[in-house]
This record gives sequence, C-alpha cells and structure tokens, in this order.
Amino acid sequence: MASLPGLLRLLLAERVMVASAISKLGDRREILGVPVCIASLEDSVVQVEKLIQSGGSHLVATADASGIVIAQDDSVLMRIYQDASWVTADSNGVIWALRRQGVSTERVSGVDLADRLLALSAAKGYSVYLLGAAPGIAEAAKERMIIKYPGCNIIGAQHGHFPESENEFVAKQLAEIKPDILLVAMGIPRQEKFIDEARKHMQFGIAMGVGGTLDVMSGKVKRAPVIIQKLKIEWLWRTLLNPKKFSKAKTLPVFVRLVKQAERKN
Ligand code: UDP
Repeated sequence: MASLPGLLRLLLAERVMVASAISKLGDRREILGVPVCIASLEDSVVQVEKLIQSGGSHLVATADASGIVIAQDDSVLMRIYQDASWVTADSNGVIWALRRQGVSTERVSGVDLADRLLALSAAKGYSVYLLGAAPGIAEAAKERMIIKYPGCNIIGAQHGHFPESENEFVAKQLAEIKPDILLVAMGIPRQEKFIDEARKHMQFGIAMGVGGTLDVMSGKVKRAPVIIQKLKIEWLWRTLLNPKKFSKAKTLPVFVRLVKQAERKN
C-alpha cells in the first residue's frame, strides 16, 4: 500500500497531468459568447501544430475586441468563433476582460502567431500560402519572410482584393494547392467568412485570419515601437497613423460597456 507522502505525490502528479491535458485541449473562457483559449504564444504554436498534424481542416481565429463586438450582431461570425478549433486572445481589451474573470494570460496577436508559424515552416517544412492585402503586398511579404526564415516553405501568395463572388473560385484553387497553413489577411469578418466557406473545399491544414499581418510582414506598415506595445496602446498608435482605423478603435468603449453589462447580469 502506498504511504501518505507517496499518495500525496500521486495526487499532485495527477493534478499536474489534468492541468496540462486541459491546456492541451484548450482551456477556454467565454467573452461575450466567444470562447477564447487561455494560452501563451508558445502554447498556441504547439496546439496549432497538433491541428496541422491531426488531419481535417481547422479554423484558427484571432479574436480581438472589435471582432467580438461585431459578432454580437453578426450570427455567422459568432458561429464561426464558437466552432473554431483555436481562438487566440488577440487584443489588450480581451486580456482585460479575461483578467476581470480572474484569468491572466498573454496576448497572442495574429501577426505574432503567423510569424511563429513561418518559423515552424522553416524548421519542419510545413507549406504556407499567403492570401490577402492589396495587390503586391502578399508577394512582398513572401520575399521578406523567406529572407527572415530561410527555408520557410511559402508555396504561394496572392492579394485579397477580389469580389466576394470569386470566393469559391479562389477556394477551389487553394484546394488544389493544399497548403498546411493558410494565412488569410482580409480583415474581420471577411477573412473568417472566407475561410468558413473555403473549408467546404479544403479538407486539410489550418487556416487563420490574420488582419493586417501581411502589411506588416511586407514592411508596408511598421509595428508600433516596443515601448508603445508595452504600454498597451498599440491600437492608439495605429489609429493615429491610419485614421481609417478609427472605426475599429470606436468599438473598444462598446466592448468595455458590453463586458461590464454582462458581468452585472451574471
Ligand atoms: N483586405 C483584403 N480584402 C478585402 C478587404 C481588406 O485583402 O476585401 C485587406 C487589407 O488590404 C488589409 C487587411 O485586409 O491588408 C485588413 O487589415 P486590418 O488591419 O484592417 O484588419 P483587422 O484585423 O483590423 O480587421
């Protein structure tokens, strides 16, 4: 029979195993109906690689406050977030909302996760396709990423400024190319809806909506200086540099109000 200290050690080991199993399966918390994964950037890379290896087709969503606000009135986007294989906490607003639930986690932005997946491609050979942004940007992003991560296996790149009536045509092209990792940079909610439709044709790999990532990777748009990122006001920096982002920034106070309202109801 096991001694008391032995039993305690067993119980402790079991707790550790259960805790790691939960994080592997994606421990999630709902923010206004969107199930956000509680995971670091490192954990997210591990999980996404598991999805790639698991077969089937998977949607990885990067949920920021603006997307969660849009999903309140857009049932298709809400369903996509709820069905996604992995949902990262992609804004400081989401991190703030999680903290109010007593959960502390790091921000996993689309640009950071995409960057890590390109590094993974260089290390393990996974094929990557870049879709989105204005003409010329995806190709420029490809050139720069091949220099940054020699050996990364980017098998194609094309812009995302095509009419929605061409979604099916583009999806069928991708179905023939079969990338392991499809990065779609067409903004929320178009990118998520494109992936959702395209998955009917593609029974492989992961597809992730990555917003303005290709603009950043191509060098067209600079990320905010680290100090601005640390101060958690990257959104303010982007809005000042690009007033078109104002409509996105306007959703932040709406998000804060909705989160507080939901807390009062619970
Ligand atoms: N875009 C696109 N096709 C469209 C609309 C937008 O490829 O039909 C691109 C646009 O050129 C830009 C990106 O989508 O590169 C949107 O970036 P943004 O940072 O606005 O995305 P967010 O994550 O804020 O929604």
